Amino acid sequence: MGFVRLLTILFIAWLLYALYKRYIKNKIEQRQKREKQKPKEVEKVVKCEKCSVHIPKQEAIEHKGRYYCSKAHLQMDDNA
Ligand SMILES: [Zn+2]
Repeated sequence: MGFVRLLTILFIAWLLYALYKRYIKNKIEQRQKREKQKPKEVEKVVKCEKCSVHIPKQEAIEHKGRYYCSKAHLQMDDNA
């Protein structure tokens, strides 16, 4: 009887361990999935030289190393 009991305890312990391992594995996989969905590069924001508005670099108009929110502001900037 004692041996069967020991086996049962061992089995339950193993089962809990297996479930725990699976739970941890799922957590890690979920985190990796989330990280993959993140954009690789953080969007860079630049400031318009004229009105100081902040805009994503890819939407900004670059001129002589300066950034503008629109063509109008590029033309309005005297230093450009
Ligand atoms: Zn502007």
